[in-house]
Amino acid sequence: MKYAEIIVQINAKEVDRIFFYTVPKALEDKIKTGSRVTVPFGRGNRPTEGYVTALTDEVSTDRTLKEITSIKDPYPVFSKVQIDLAKWMQKKYYCTLTDCLQCILPKITKDKVERYVNLAADNEETEKIIKKNNRQSQLLKELRQNSPLSLKYIKDSLEISLQTVKSLEKKGIVTISELEQSRDLYDTKNPSPSRSHSPTHDQQAVINRVVSSLNAPEKKPFLLKGVTGSGKTLVYTEIIDKTISMGKQAVVLVPEISLTPQTVSRFIERFGEKVTVTHSKMTEGERFDQWKKAKRGDVSIMIGPRSAIFAPFENLGVIIIDEEHEKTYKSEITPKYDAREVALKLSELTGAAVLFGSATPSIESFYKTETGEYELLELNSRINMTPPDIFAVDMRDELALGNRSMFSLRLQKAIRETLKAKKQIILFLNRRGHSTFLSCRSCGYVMTCENCSVSYTYHKQDEKLVCHYCGREASVPDRCPACGSPYIKYFGAGTEKVITEVNKLFPEARILRMDADTTKTKDSHRQILEAFAAGKADILAGTQMIAKGLDFPNVTLVGVIAADLSLNSSDFRSAENTFQLITQVAGRAGRAGDKGRVLIQTYMPENYCIEYAKREDYSSFYNEEIEFRRQMAYPPFSNIAVVLFTGEDEREVIRNLHILAEIFAFYGKNKDYSRIGPSAAAVSKIKNKFRHRLIIKGRDEEKLKNYIFYCLDKFNEKYNPKGITVSVSVNPTYIP
Ligand code: ADP
Ligand code: ZN
Ligand code: ZN
Repeated sequence: MKYAEIIVQINAKEVDRIFFYTVPKALEDKIKTGSRVTVPFGRGNRPTEGYVTALTDEVSTDRTLKEITSIKDPYPVFSKVQIDLAKWMQKKYYCTLTDCLQCILPKITKDKVERYVNLAADNEETEKIIKKNNRQSQLLKELRQNSPLSLKYIKDSLEISLQTVKSLEKKGIVTISELEQSRDLYDTKNPSPSRSHSPTHDQQAVINRVVSSLNAPEKKPFLLKGVTGSGKTLVYTEIIDKTISMGKQAVVLVPEISLTPQTVSRFIERFGEKVTVTHSKMTEGERFDQWKKAKRGDVSIMIGPRSAIFAPFENLGVIIIDEEHEKTYKSEITPKYDAREVALKLSELTGAAVLFGSATPSIESFYKTETGEYELLELNSRINMTPPDIFAVDMRDELALGNRSMFSLRLQKAIRETLKAKKQIILFLNRRGHSTFLSCRSCGYVMTCENCSVSYTYHKQDEKLVCHYCGREASVPDRCPACGSPYIKYFGAGTEKVITEVNKLFPEARILRMDADTTKTKDSHRQILEAFAAGKADILAGTQMIAKGLDFPNVTLVGVIAADLSLNSSDFRSAENTFQLITQVAGRAGRAGDKGRVLIQTYMPENYCIEYAKREDYSSFYNEEIEFRRQMAYPPFSNIAVVLFTGEDEREVIRNLHILAEIFAFYGKNKDYSRIGPSAAAVSKIKNKFRHRLIIKGRDEEKLKNYIFYCLDKFNEKYNPKGITVSVSVNPTYIP
């Protein structure tokens, strides 16, 4: 092939297209589709990195083409499938092809190599040759016992210099070689042995259904709805086992690796060195090494957060997406891809099966089982686990009883009983800090961040006010900044206050806190969870970090401190989010056969999502929620796009957004689209930038996107305002 289609690694719309280059004779054998190369680019012929997206023998152009300068890696970094995937992402997520290719590829870093010293020749003459040189004979002695030895060990532990090694090399007695080292965060070489269960009848049925589809040419994605504790992990591992035995590979997506250590361990226990794990807190080198293992076929299973969907497997057999309803599968940065959508596209390109799993499937996914787009599989019974008793506690009654504590009398009693029985407790409150706002009793002034339109949260441990949006800190005032009154009241509770209250009411209880403040270091999640699992604490209190996938057999009581928190948001998904959170956290109780108890504290016990969460009735919740979505024309009955303008001059932001709204009105007359706003965003100011938004709904995603970008182009042609950032999200996980 004489010519190459090249995408240059420059992130600008103007160069987001294919450029042709000639392939020099010398590189003809080396350059392949997917290779990373250096090319001269632009008038100055600047050396620029590029990707070969195709090779061809003919090009129709009058221009003389420039020549590829060099190739960067010994192997093509992209497969054909990945290039097709990137092209699809470019259209789907309206970004540049370079954006997509860069997103698919981890940052390529230098290999980590270690130098080794090998004993090459050794016979009677060796000692003559060395002539009783002390250091040299010492090294020789060591190498006779153990060869090769790493150079690092020789220098650091044996304290023998490089010079000594080099002189032995010159004499032909030793050779120095380089060996590539893998930077691994997880030890998969020595998995702790585990007891493998044989699947129950229900589990086996699900396994068989998915396995039977692995070789089928046409297949639908599966949605596995399995109540918490129904043994979904065993289903996954069994399916993967079959996939691997067919010579295929598997990708497993989990919402966040650090929050699901137990799931990851179960995979490592079962599959050992066949598994590789990627992790958002890994270094670039560690991530690149895991990618290489998959690329070379050294591993067959990649577990990770959403980016693991891009694992460079040759023969992908199955993609499993656990907790499919989680918001983390959608990226909020460019390219704003949704790993679930990418999985479906990959299935189309490779024939891999897709299995979505959840105890509380997203409304959109479950709807697809009704329209026939997905096939529904179910696990309705718990293993080793009787369903917990779930109660809602009406917090309005507590106030009437004169109880001003954040714990209802009922929860206090339950905590006391559980402590006495030497069982463990999980207390869930989806807000960190101590008090969520400080307000003056005399004039009502609320301490608010100067950069953002949000109140400060009081953090007791640091004795500080912290803004959760921009991180700004302020000292705690002893007088009201507005009127000077000394009477300042602390309202609203966060996880830190749970600790204070427990210490006050149950001084004997040992308590651990898990939230963003206590888990800043790489290993802190694991340490907290291990301490709790080892019984070093009676109570684990935390945010949604403790809601997922944790399997602690000794926990018999779960307290949801304020179930209404997520219900009060203005997002159309608030009921769904609340239902999912309560169900997930309730699933942590009573895992080892002891009857579990769940107490949900709420000010609106009659709300349908609390009511159905309490009864563990997903179907009824779904039926009610889908009706609401239908009536309001929310997803899945429409697609929603949010156009957000941000800028320092609020009047300019509003003025420009109104102009855009008129353009939308002008081009959208045929009632295909409806508009909400312009209005202030949920948080109207962050980091001194004002935020206003326009919501556009449309039936067809493709048409809606075209319409929005057409209107935005029109707007930019004529107005192109300075100092205003425009961002567009299609079907975002929450409305900004
Ligand atoms: P889920 O992810 O559906 O909430 P898990 O996969 O955590 O459920 O399984 C719940 C518990 O049941 C785990 O402790 C697991 O080891 C156990 N388990 C799963 N399948 C079986 C089985 N077939 N026999 C015995 N125990 C099982
Ligand atoms: Zn005041
Ligand atoms: Zn702020």
